Amino acid sequence: MRPLSELSLEQARSVRVVLSDIDDTITSEGMLTAAAYGALEALHKAGFLVIPVTGRPAGWCDHIVRMWPVDAIVGENGAFFFRYDRIRKKMHHHFWASPEERQLNRARLDEIEKEVLATIPGAALASDQAYRVADLAIDFCEDVPPLPEREVDKIVSVFERAGAQAKVSSIHVNGWFGAYDKLSMAKTLLADVFKIDWEDAKRSVIYAGDSPNDEPMFAAFPLSVGVANISAFAHRLKSKPAFITPSHSGDGFAELAALLLRAKGAPRV
Ligand SMILES: [Mg+2]
Repeated sequence: MRPLSELSLEQARSVRVVLSDIDDTITSEGMLTAAAYGALEALHKAGFLVIPVTGRPAGWCDHIVRMWPVDAIVGENGAFFFRYDRIRKKMHHHFWASPEERQLNRARLDEIEKEVLATIPGAALASDQAYRVADLAIDFCEDVPPLPEREVDKIVSVFERAGAQAKVSSIHVNGWFGAYDKLSMAKTLLADVFKIDWEDAKRSVIYAGDSPNDEPMFAAFPLSVGVANISAFAHRLKSKPAFITPSHSGDGFAELAALLLRAKGAPRV
């Protein structure tokens, strides 16, 4: 991971799309700061496509894509993307699985939930589970006292033994049935909605994240950035981001935005 200051002016100028994780990348200590929100707004106003790519639930994503200065959102670790057409006042939904498949998967996830809660003391159902359509989120750090890493690994193995995928964010273990992740749905969104093919995306897209569930994105995008708190997870990452910001969380995201806006000659935050 090289310091963000080593991102060249030429590389920064080639960026047109900012994809970013939300938790602990845009937010700081669980809150959206004025600085981070201002950075999103300044990027959006300067003409960048701004697309959060998050593990957060469909219910939150509906709100975010309507009310935040963003162009689309990928949610539940790639289960779907939403896009809101502000002119026609129409919400577009694209799900990886059909409603019937999601219903079948939910029954299987309910079994995993029972096993996790019965066998791993201290783990809890995530507080935002009621607003999810495709995955199961187990809280190990958001509204419960942090669990040790070996307990987090145990949660992951319950999912994996049942044939589900599981990814660890900074707060939850998210698990699901289906061959998708943040990367596959981001690629679908870029190609289908914004007509950006993969060759183009490698130059024009930058991705910001902070934890192991961002790994497929760090691996795929040559322009990938970790906010400084990624250091705490570095030992769990096979694919690390190319660059790292000086500051943590939302302040690190604002540093990335400032660099992109400066390269474009746009007004700063
Ligand atoms: Mg995160």
